[in-house]
Amino acid sequence: MKLTSGLGSQLTVDLGALARNWNALDKVSQGALTAAVVKADAYGTGIEMAATALYAAGARFFFVATPDEGIAVRTALPSAHIFVLNGLYPGAANLYIRQNLMPVISSMDMLEEWLNKCVERNEAYPSAFHFDTGMNRLGFRLNEAVTVRERIARLSYAPQMVMSHLACADIPSHEKNRTQLALFGSVLNQFPGIPASLANSAGLMTGRDYHFQMVRPGIALYGGRAVVGRKNPMATVVTLHAPVLQVREARTGETVGYGASYSLSRDSRLAVIGHGYADGFLRALSGSNARPGAKVFVRGRLCPVIGKISMDQSIVDITELGPNVPKPGEGVEIFGPNVSLDEQADVAGTIGYELLTALKGRYTRNYVGNGYLPE
Ligand SMILES: *Cc1c(COP(=O)(O)O)cnc(C)c1O
Repeated sequence: MKLTSGLGSQLTVDLGALARNWNALDKVSQGALTAAVVKADAYGTGIEMAATALYAAGARFFFVATPDEGIAVRTALPSAHIFVLNGLYPGAANLYIRQNLMPVISSMDMLEEWLNKCVERNEAYPSAFHFDTGMNRLGFRLNEAVTVRERIARLSYAPQMVMSHLACADIPSHEKNRTQLALFGSVLNQFPGIPASLANSAGLMTGRDYHFQMVRPGIALYGGRAVVGRKNPMATVVTLHAPVLQVREARTGETVGYGASYSLSRDSRLAVIGHGYADGFLRALSGSNARPGAKVFVRGRLCPVIGKISMDQSIVDITELGPNVPKPGEGVEIFGPNVSLDEQADVAGTIGYELLTALKGRYTRNYVGNGYLPE
């Protein structure tokens, strides 16, 4: 669902900041190709617009999760190289070939289906191979590397790339990183000369050893925090504003919201905003007397969300603003330059990735900063 009235929540995506973030990461990964991960509608920013801006910045390799996302990128970017992280969906090989999508093959079943299609059409269609080095998510098991090598050798087939994925890259000192790096090295021994890729955003920031021939940043492109416990160096890309619906006065002792979970210890001024959990403003961001919730940015100041977040509204204590009272229709910053996505994610006990991709369709998306794009 897309509202176009422009009266509801406004998501502003700074494509210039997105491009600058890609350039900054590309500098760090010097010597390796810097791809761009644009899965989940480019982390909520809009896959066509984001991919186009990233391509203009210099990105040529794109990672999506699903074939549908791959088709969206292909439509926007006829000459991009597109990898589908979820792999080959059964029966979809013809679609991948038609759209020039490369499956990231992670099982013997996927490999057989892809190779059979190559044999049938007498063409070595490109793909990547994913080996699991410690997540038990997608990927061949390490002990399948020899079988995979022997299987493709018989057909003289070679993948475009061999990859794996780090489980704990957000904590650079975690020993699992070194373990996975070593295991990945053992896989690569089976595929000499094939380009390799291991690093997500955090892996990219962790050091050269993790770069190999291609890095795969996602969250850092969109301004999110990749590495825990460090200052986030990325530019803010996404800003979300929600409209004030009503400003009301309330008295000491009165309660706020469902469950009466917040009672006022002073006479207060409250702003009711048109943004709730149905918009992706997680209920875990609610504030009770026992536990503070999210803060939002109103008229130059951080103000607490109090009471339970409802489906379509939430309530903000704006008493501290004094006479500087926002007007109905005015936007309140839910996250952006003044309320970091990751601070808010911390309050909800989640990660910035989830807040970005939890945004539902009930907002208008505005793109700014795309002046660098060729006309
Ligand atoms: C999502 C994903 C990435 C990007 O990760 P970020 O932490 O967002 O940089 C890279 N590789 C794989 C396999 C992924 O699933």
